[in-house]
Amino acid sequence: MIEMQEVYKQYPNGIMAANGFNIHIKQGEFVYVVGPSGAGKSTFIKMMYREEKPTKGSIMVNGIDLAKLKRSRVPYLRRNIGVVFQDFKLLPSLTVYENIAFALEVIEEQPKNIKKRVMEVLDLVGLKHKARMLPNELSGGEQQRVSLARSIVNTPKVVIADEPTGNLDPETSWEIMNIFEEINTRGTTVVMATHNREIVNTIKHRVIAIENGRIVRDELRGDYGYES
Ligand code: ADP
Repeated sequence: MIEMQEVYKQYPNGIMAANGFNIHIKQGEFVYVVGPSGAGKSTFIKMMYREEKPTKGSIMVNGIDLAKLKRSRVPYLRRNIGVVFQDFKLLPSLTVYENIAFALEVIEEQPKNIKKRVMEVLDLVGLKHKARMLPNELSGGEQQRVSLARSIVNTPKVVIADEPTGNLDPETSWEIMNIFEEINTRGTTVVMATHNREIVNTIKHRVIAIENGRIVRDELRGDYGYES
């Protein structure tokens, strides 16, 4: 469902953040992306949802060629991709409910379906009782749950996460991981950049390691690697 062939990315400052990426990720896989800071993990991930365009090469996501995709079509691509960030990126003036409903309103989902679907995902992340609260009334872990709920509310085929536990304490990180596991068990592909060695070494999945803009390792049920 995600395929990169000979993908290169050079930023305007000359840095080559992707130096010939070749990968194939199947529907339903769970993939960790690891590597030192500055290795190219975010670039790898951002190219998957067309936040960054490759300089060269082809990227197919759900049958769409991202290198050729017109900017005006990007919103259609994003309907099938959920994205979760380290810093949550919730809208501060909207309630938990509204933050999630917003993702459905922009794709013009029928109002009668919106409430049902938002409550379903809030239930999945265990936050139904906080639907009326504002993001700043929640803990970091709760905010990340909301952002996860928002990422899956329109039932995307893939969820892409850039260090989703980077701002969370260890216990909360495990809770968030359990929700990712649940989402993956239900059939959604998960691609997650992470620095969390303990999680990668405990909940085993495929590991893609990037260094200096190159994929240096790609292992099913891999380890985090690297000494800390
Ligand atoms: P990681 O996520 O592994 O920390 P990044 O993909 O963010 O790595 O960065 C890879 C390299 O590309 C780094 O050298 C970084 O400084 C550079 N880089 C990232 N984004 C940009 C940008 N928008 N403009 C210029 N250089 C960038």
